[in-house]
Amino acid sequence: MAVIQNVKGMRDHLPTDMMLRQYIVSTLTRISEAHGFEPLQTPIIEYAETLEGKLGEDEKLIYRFEDHGGRRLALRYDQTVPLARVTAQYAGQLTLPWRRYAYGPSYRGERPARGRYREFYQFDIDIVGSASPLADAEIVAMLCEALSALGFPDFVTLLNHRQIIGGIARVSGLSEEAAGGVYRAIDKFDKIGVAGVRNELLKAGVDTGAADRILELVQIDGSADEVLAALAQRLADDERAIAAIANLRSILDGLAAMGVPTDQYRVAPRLARGLSYYTGVVFEAITPHWPEGSLLGGGRYDDLIGLFAGRNIPTVGLAFGIDRLHDVMLELNLGPRPRTTAVAYVTLFSGDYVAASLALAAELRAAGIHTLIALEPGNLGKQFKEADRRGVRFALVLGPDELARDEVVVKDLQRGEQRSLPRAAVAGLLAEALTEGK
Ligand code: AMP
Repeated sequence: MAVIQNVKGMRDHLPTDMMLRQYIVSTLTRISEAHGFEPLQTPIIEYAETLEGKLGEDEKLIYRFEDHGGRRLALRYDQTVPLARVTAQYAGQLTLPWRRYAYGPSYRGERPARGRYREFYQFDIDIVGSASPLADAEIVAMLCEALSALGFPDFVTLLNHRQIIGGIARVSGLSEEAAGGVYRAIDKFDKIGVAGVRNELLKAGVDTGAADRILELVQIDGSADEVLAALAQRLADDERAIAAIANLRSILDGLAAMGVPTDQYRVAPRLARGLSYYTGVVFEAITPHWPEGSLLGGGRYDDLIGLFAGRNIPTVGLAFGIDRLHDVMLELNLGPRPRTTAVAYVTLFSGDYVAASLALAAELRAAGIHTLIALEPGNLGKQFKEADRRGVRFALVLGPDELARDEVVVKDLQRGEQRSLPRAAVAGLLAEALTEGK
């Protein structure tokens, strides 16, 4: 017999998990559409060449294979590179700036751990074709809005800019090439601490003096204004870093004007973000309740789409990691926990009343009430038990007496109450009980 086992790092999501995942996705969809973002879906499989040369060190995590026709294919690593391809491929049909959202699985050959899988779902929001700091601010504002809507307590969005890290490397006397090693070392700050990063920097060929200067700068802390002021002073000789600081200031002004609570974001020079395609602001949301890593991250990548389009198309965006949000919400007991998608369970009184009960179920569904129908007539006690076992709150009975009076018996299994109601009033009563959460 075949092994009954799912592939390592890839998960099955049973119904109770799926209901919470769908709640997360519908919350993100609602917020995206409230901001006028449009949906996009692309295939999971891309030409390997499409993904190659864009991910830096992470390229080794791409799942690659050959199809029956000998084509070199790959499972998508994220939804950002496919977005870049689409933008180039359909340039004539897209109106820039384009706000798009996308939801689906991505694949990475990582070492699986809690919150880290080989198949995982991302929900991406990006603004394609705008260099405005208002675009950066809108994306960050949406992420704060989303985490608040999902009920995350005390999360913080850390903001930094690639040219601030670049500036830190340059004023420490490092070449542009060495800066890559600096990003990667600093990226591990929260995992390996100061001593660990120092070691990594030394390993990357940075001398001890420069390593100490870098470490001092990346640890600057305080309010957003304080951090930017300290950086402006220390990086005064680096034009690009000064422009980056001005850019971050504009983004912070945008966030304030959009009404994002100031305790939801901070400037953190130690935030690097691993991916190589970022060019401007980078950000990551963290919560002390999840020390294993970020809830989500993103940033500005002005050159990536140009690799496909042949001209620069400045873009900013982020990917919500659905699996990670779900894991943390489970752990922190956030979000609704329905046991079923149905609210009403229509019983079958006897063989003679099946048609009448089916008609009642159809009537309720037409009125927007999610309704399950029993499959075997007879023994009502058994049917009530079945409804209760499934976590459906209301069991309905339509027998000869009820039919004669044009009524329906509604049994609230949660409260153990039962009454007979005019048939026309049932849908309204169930809807009311639900909205009031009674
Ligand atoms: P990235 O595409 O690396 O910027 O990741 C964006 C978000 O996707 C992360 O913050 C995570 O929430 C999620 N994510 C990335 N890699 C994984 C993974 N291997 N397993 C689960 N979630 C992931």
